[in-house]
Amino acid sequence: MSMPANRPRIGAHTPTSGGMAKRSIDYAIATEAEAIQVFASNPRGWAMPEANPEADKAFREKATAHDLAVYVHAPFLINLGSPTVSTYENSVASTAYSLKRAREIGALGTVIHTGSAVDESHVETAWKQINKGMMPVLKKLKEDDPWLLLEPTAGQGQSLVKKLDDLTKYFDALEWHPKVGVCLDTCHVFAAGHDIAKKGGMTQTLDLLVSIVGIERIKLIHTNDSMDVCGALKDRHQNLGEGEIGLKAFEELIAHPAVANAPLILETPGQEPEHGAEIALLKKMRSKRK
Ligand SMILES: [Zn+2]
Repeated sequence: MSMPANRPRIGAHTPTSGGMAKRSIDYAIATEAEAIQVFASNPRGWAMPEANPEADKAFREKATAHDLAVYVHAPFLINLGSPTVSTYENSVASTAYSLKRAREIGALGTVIHTGSAVDESHVETAWKQINKGMMPVLKKLKEDDPWLLLEPTAGQGQSLVKKLDDLTKYFDALEWHPKVGVCLDTCHVFAAGHDIAKKGGMTQTLDLLVSIVGIERIKLIHTNDSMDVCGALKDRHQNLGEGEIGLKAFEELIAHPAVANAPLILETPGQEPEHGAEIALLKKMRSKRK
């Protein structure tokens, strides 16, 4: 690994159309990404296609050759807290599948959204079913398997994680399993009401996250600006510096000890030109990190 210690890798979510081994890697090269995130299956469906071992091997080899840290984003439909039995069952299966695909492509973690109980009366049951469905999946993970990374959502409705403090309940439900970590999305956390845009706000929010889950569980940062104001409960990503969060917050982010081992992944609008420029901007900010 050529990355200096104590410096987070910087990269982007990359497309896979036309083949992960070609498209995602070419994208990483074009944008000078050091970390990438991919969908391992249709993000808006439950389909769990058979792996193609040859394609996976080609991808792994290229990712290694280009020194890329890889992450999988599991389908958006996953909601382990759903009151709808079929959704819950599909969610458990899809999470397990995404962890398996992550292992097969050499990824370090799989991101799932923390989801929603949908109905207030279902909240207590939601925590129980998450425990029941996920513990057998987690118990099968070996030490060098990918992490399961919980991504708090924008806090709308009966979200299981409305504010960061609620992560305690999610980790309780997963018995603080050693392979469970956090993917913090800056747009989501801002939408949920943590004011990372004010001076010192990002630092304060990251300090809070460290106090809740511990620094060693902070594994990935979705680095997005927001189209909407703090507390709007809206999940609309914007390019860095062009939204309501602003560049100062991202300077605080990249200076914080909590991101030492958490790559910064862009999920902002645009393609290679926009992501390439944002990656360059974040690298410039990183050069000032102590
Ligand atoms: Zn995200």
